Amino acid sequence: MTLAKKYKARFGVAIVAMLLTLAGCSGDEDNGNPVGTLTETVTTPNIPAADRRIHPLTEGVYATGGSVSSMGHPLEYRFDFDGSVTQWSQDSLASHTWGTAGRHIVRAQSRCALHDVLSPWTLNVLILAHGHLVTDFETPVLGPDTARVVNPYSNDEAGVTFSTDEPGFNLGHVGLVLNRSTTACVAPKSDNQKLGTGRRGTGQVGWDAFEIRADFLPYIPPGATLRVQVQIRQLKDVKLTVFSPQHRAIAVVTKNAGVGAGTCGYFGEPRTRVTLEYTASQDVKLIRIDGGSFDFVIDNFEIDIPQR
Ligand SMILES: [Zn+2]
Repeated sequence: MTLAKKYKARFGVAIVAMLLTLAGCSGDEDNGNPVGTLTETVTTPNIPAADRRIHPLTEGVYATGGSVSSMGHPLEYRFDFDGSVTQWSQDSLASHTWGTAGRHIVRAQSRCALHDVLSPWTLNVLILAHGHLVTDFETPVLGPDTARVVNPYSNDEAGVTFSTDEPGFNLGHVGLVLNRSTTACVAPKSDNQKLGTGRRGTGQVGWDAFEIRADFLPYIPPGATLRVQVQIRQLKDVKLTVFSPQHRAIAVVTKNAGVGAGTCGYFGEPRTRVTLEYTASQDVKLIRIDGGSFDFVIDNFEIDIPQR
C-alpha cells in the first residue's frame, strides 16, 4: 500500500466546495448549462508520497495528483516544503532536497487551471531527512531542580517522542533527572541530564524501572542506525525491542551492561553504561527499552540516517 493510499484510507478525502461565478465564461465549455452562478469544486489531491526508489528521506521526488474538478477542467498542482511553496504546475511531481537534517513537512494543493478555484491543502506529511540526530536531554535546563516530570519528552527536530507505558499497570511517567540524582547514577556525580522514569503522581524521576518507549515521527527508514546509551546496574541485561509501523515486534537487541564506572553515592551494586545499537532493515515506528525491572536512565539517543 502506498503512503498516499494509507492516509486516504485513514482520513478519507476531504472535499470543500468553492463558489465561482462563471458569468464571464463561455457557456460552451459547460455543455449548455444555463449561464449564471455555478459551483465548481476541486477535490483535495493525494497526500504527497515520496518516490521510495530514490531514497525519499534525503532528497527525492514527491508525487501528488488524483484531484478532480467537478466541471472536468484541467488542474494544476503546487507543493509546500516547510513553508516554501512551489509555482503552480500541470506536473503533479516536484523534487526537493532537504538542506538540514531532521523533521520536515510536505503538503500539496491543486486548483482549476482555468478559474483559480483552489482545493484544500492536503494533510501534512512528515519527512525525517538525512543526518545525525542527537537527543542529549540537556533541555530544558533543570536549574535548581534535580528532576522534573516531562511526559512525554519530545525532540521535534529529531522526530522522536519518549514516553512510558506499562500494559495493565500504567503508573509510570518519564522526565529529566540529573546524573547525581538518580539510582542509576554513574560516577562521576554530575549535573548532566538523563531521561528516566518514575512513578506517576510522585514527581519522582530516575528511581523506577518502567520501560522507556521512543516513537518516531514519521518513522526510521531502512539503513538508519539507532544508538541508545543506557545507565544501569553492572552485569544487567538491557533490551531494545523494535516495532514496525504495524506495531509488530521485528527485532530484539539485548546487551549485558558488563563491569563499569561504579556507584556515585547510592546504595546497592555498582552502575555502568551500555550502548545499544540497531540498524533498521525496514521502516521502524517505535522502540522500547527495558532494563528488566532494574532502574535505568538513558542519554544521547542518536539516529543516523545515511545519505543514500
Ligand atoms: Zn474551472
